[in-house]
Amino acid sequence: MSPSRFDQGQLGGRAVRRVVFTEAEVQERVHELGAEISDAYTRDDRLLVIGLLKGSFVFLADLVRRIALPLHVDFLVASSYGKAKVTSGDVRLLYDPASSLQGRAVLLVEDIVDSGTTLRKLLPRLEARGPASLEVCALLHKRTDGEEHAPRWVGFDAPNEFLVGYGLDHAEDFRHLPYIASL
Ligand code: 5GP
Ligand code: MG
Repeated sequence: MSPSRFDQGQLGGRAVRRVVFTEAEVQERVHELGAEISDAYTRDDRLLVIGLLKGSFVFLADLVRRIALPLHVDFLVASSYGKAKVTSGDVRLLYDPASSLQGRAVLLVEDIVDSGTTLRKLLPRLEARGPASLEVCALLHKRTDGEEHAPRWVGFDAPNEFLVGYGLDHAEDFRHLPYIASL
């Protein structure tokens, strides 16, 4: 699909290189993930879905509405790339989930896993709070080689391009696009 049909609306004339995953493709995959996650847990797991802000907010909102189980939602805020397009390797926690993780099935929802640095820093901190299980669902996954904390669920294998839309930003722009595009 050509990005040009979006130029006058959400893009406000700014250019994206190409649409990588259309709105329909994203929605179909999110439905599938919701079904898989619903099958993997039971009511007794007391599922707690933790969204890593800000990038996961659109994905999280769509995903939880496709999970056919009782669940709670909380958030976690870590430092971001800012205006850079590559990771600094320095992940700071600005907000920890207020919910108790003790004895619960915790599902961390990430927008995109690239080097794995974010997960490597965050997962031990969540694990230390005593969840019964701790899994990751990432909308996008850039690398698959030699990862310590591979996500259990992945929406799409991502090309090695800088992606925006469906929650992902560049310097806070583009988060509201209903599709995923590359810059
Ligand atoms: P990692 O720590 O795995 O290297 O990077 C994960 C984080 O980097 C993601 O949560 C996301 O904020 C950011 N990131 C990595 N690749 C991209 C990308 O292509 N586009 C955007 N917008 N953010 C990215
Ligand atoms: Mg992020």
